[in-house]
Amino acid sequence: MHEMSICEGILQVLEAESQTKNFKVVKKVFVEIGPLSGVEVEALRFSFDVVMKGSLADTAVLEVIETDAKAWCMNCNEPVIIKQRFDDCPQCGSAQIQVTSGEELAIKELEVD
Ligand SMILES: [Zn+2]
Repeated sequence: MHEMSICEGILQVLEAESQTKNFKVVKKVFVEIGPLSGVEVEALRFSFDVVMKGSLADTAVLEVIETDAKAWCMNCNEPVIIKQRFDDCPQCGSAQIQVTSGEELAIKELEVD
């Protein structure tokens, strides 16, 4: 499962951060996820609990911040918000749009002890 390796990546970041910032327990992890990242939030939550077991984030809560995907419509000549990668422009229906954001998958913030 794709989400499993994402969580392993998150754990690596947490461990590295705990060394440099000197904390022992992670209480909350805020992760920003774009709708085009291909990540399933439910699968991510499940993987998070499995991967964090026995680690410094054993009891950590995963807070998911779902962002909007944005694209540039060449017909409207302005940015629009889309739901999926191959959406047409929600304003004019044109397919001439270029995705500009929505693929993010990043740790935004940590709550630690
Ligand atoms: Zn448009």
